[in-house]
Amino acid sequence: MPIQSLNPATGQLLRSFDALTPEQLESKLALAAQAAVTYPLEPLGQRAFWMRRLAIQLENDADDLAALMTAEMGKTLRSARAEVLKCAAGCRYYAANADSFLAPEPIESEHAQSYVRYDPLGVVLAVMPWNFPLWQVFRFLAPALMAGNIGLLKHASNVPQCALAIEALVRRAGFPRGVFQTLLIEARQVEAVLADKRVAAVTVTGSEAAGRAIAAQAGWLIKKSVLELGGSDPFIVLPSADLDAAVTNAVQARLINNGQSCIAAKRFLVHTAIYDEFETRFVAAMQATVVGDPMRETTELGPMAMPSAVSALVTQVQAAVAAGGRLLCGGRPGFGENAVDTSAVPGCFFPPTVIAGVPRDAAVAKEETFGPLAMLFRVEDVEDAIELANDTPFGLGASCWTNDPEEQERLAEGIQAGCVFFNAPVASDPRLPFGGIKHSGYGRELSSAGMREFLNAKTVVVE
Ligand code: NAP
Repeated sequence: MPIQSLNPATGQLLRSFDALTPEQLESKLALAAQAAVTYPLEPLGQRAFWMRRLAIQLENDADDLAALMTAEMGKTLRSARAEVLKCAAGCRYYAANADSFLAPEPIESEHAQSYVRYDPLGVVLAVMPWNFPLWQVFRFLAPALMAGNIGLLKHASNVPQCALAIEALVRRAGFPRGVFQTLLIEARQVEAVLADKRVAAVTVTGSEAAGRAIAAQAGWLIKKSVLELGGSDPFIVLPSADLDAAVTNAVQARLINNGQSCIAAKRFLVHTAIYDEFETRFVAAMQATVVGDPMRETTELGPMAMPSAVSALVTQVQAAVAAGGRLLCGGRPGFGENAVDTSAVPGCFFPPTVIAGVPRDAAVAKEETFGPLAMLFRVEDVEDAIELANDTPFGLGASCWTNDPEEQERLAEGIQAGCVFFNAPVASDPRLPFGGIKHSGYGRELSSAGMREFLNAKTVVVE
């Protein structure tokens, strides 16, 4: 994939970049290795000062950064602004809490003294996706830099300007040279970077295919890896739920980030007693979504990030219908019925789409749908919901709507996922561990758990 910013709403080529030459890459790796020696010696208070300055810069530049994200990958300007502010909050969270997360832990034993100390691993390569161009990076960057690690970012090839903007922000905040660098490289160059002995570990957020390829190499090299991959998250609605809230949140949970979020709700599992009413109201609300130019404040659904994302959705709609699904709205590329757009080109747009009655054993019913395509399923009871929820290779998150405490306990226990949210959509939060199981990956980001992934828990015994 060429390293290019291409506005998906207009089709306009914004900028293109050459990948780093081997010589340029070598000098960045050397700088990172040098920083890995000196930067961990900086007092924690100093790192926290820089991290807070980074938060202030994000807040000051929020409008420009948001416009850049929207231009490069099409998320609505409103959501882009919220993303920048979330990054600032993440920086402040780690600046405030790193002290306690990194503190040595005394352990009682027969020795005079025994404890665990947490030391940085060194240079960590971060391979990142385009869907949250800032937040995906910051949720790695903030804990890594507070812990004394060094970051090398290989961002997705369609958001190079965001990638460069992040590096510039880190430098302007005062962090020393080399502590965080963007590598404008192609996916095929990742192998050589990971193999370099100066790189200690890798974190990947992206597709199952990318995770599989990089983790296989990391395993062979015996380098630590964290994988945050795809999802086919269930949204379960049971009779005790507040149906108004469930419908409103179901629409938002599916359409978040133009439908391109790993934790977007993708399969809607609704109890048979309330199914018909839910279907009618959900379809109406999906159809009422305002589709169009993501730069407009009133737009609720912008374009897919690239033409290939539209083709993937077309294929999945065709497969679902061919398997016996009923298309209830949308289904064809374009703006759909509620476009407000005047300047956008229709190429990358796909309207809110709902399909019901896809057989549970159809391959498409278990896949990740990365766009505004929702599949509805009827379930008989809580056990049936759990069985269907788990019938996918993924295990990222689940949003369950019920006010029955026994059902909540059973769902929390039975669902195979990294998180279960009740009466709320799944969302990442710096205070809460985030990650998946099964093909959604392994390891955690955020909270103390995320910071510890790239630390050496070193046992110290003194006699
Ligand atoms: P992607 O195609 O896998 O790309 C992600 C990153 O990996 C990009 O930087 C890409 O570089 C690189 N890459 C791809 N194949 C590679 C390979 N074989 N070797 C080395 N690097 C490789 O994913 P995407 O389309 O950007 O993002 C969408 C996917 O990310 C979805 O499946 C979504 O669910 C997942 N995601 C997961 C989370 C989570 O936290 N679990 C969060 C967000 C997104 P190029 O751009 O140069 O190809």
